[in-house]
Amino acid sequence: MTRVLRTRGELRDALTLSARPVGLVPTMGWLHEGHRSLMRRARGSDATTVVTIFVNPRQFNETADYARYPRNEARDIAICAEEGVDLVWAPPVEEVYVPGFDTTVSVGAVGQPLEGAARPGHFEGVATVVAILLSLVGAERAYFGQKDAQQVMVIRRMALDLSLASEVIACPTVREPDGLALSSRNVHLSAAERGAAPVLQRALVAARRRWEAGERSADELRTEMRRVLAGEPLAAVDYVSCADGLTLQELDRIDGPALLSLAVRFGATRLIDNEPLR
Ligand code: AMP
Repeated sequence: MTRVLRTRGELRDALTLSARPVGLVPTMGWLHEGHRSLMRRARGSDATTVVTIFVNPRQFNETADYARYPRNEARDIAICAEEGVDLVWAPPVEEVYVPGFDTTVSVGAVGQPLEGAARPGHFEGVATVVAILLSLVGAERAYFGQKDAQQVMVIRRMALDLSLASEVIACPTVREPDGLALSSRNVHLSAAERGAAPVLQRALVAARRRWEAGERSADELRTEMRRVLAGEPLAAVDYVSCADGLTLQELDRIDGPALLSLAVRFGATRLIDNEPLR
């Protein structure tokens, strides 16, 4: 039986009675196969699975983006039930941010480039809400998607630095058959944009192939990604990156673990994807 909880008190009471270890899957709802894969990982490892559904206003740097973020709680809860989730915490904003809330968790260097530069305040919002969720749930493990690779790195850094007890586990990106990474934002794509969107993964795969063939110039790989993206008229490039896999600093030469990543706009919808090189 999946229980749906609204307040901190309800969550605390339910957790007191729950078997350990607890696995936490934080989400913003509009659940899809990517979220399901995290729930299954938790179900496979933890005695109790907790999913949070909370569209976190603090991580949206554009209010319009927050307002139009897709929501369907009834469907989300049904998906959690199908996946055998024990507890769903779907709180109103004031249960997450107590009256007078005035703390921001700001992660340093790893949160600055890429999404951090493109979306000012985004990772502060993410780190702050995840710190609250980890602290409220006290999970042994928390599951995140590799789809948001920089987010995982930011959360790992924060959990280490703040001695948060949860182990941070990154799970592989789930994709549509044509390669498009699942994302709640895909629902905003027009039919033509949806048709064009797999170009993100095609660009990443093309660059990966060059790397597998021995190319070690990061510029060459960035150029390769731009070349593929340029073939898709609906794709407006925000950034392409070939960065150090640990620091996310842009590379000249690739001689260790690296991360290829990109952000591309299709009309008003901004999509991101990445491919680790290791
Ligand atoms: P969101 O609801 O978009 O905040 O995502 C909640 C969690 O699901 C985050 O840890 C995401 O990285 C993860 N996630 C989103 N899309 C995917 C995907 N396609 N594959 C795997 N994990 C994903």
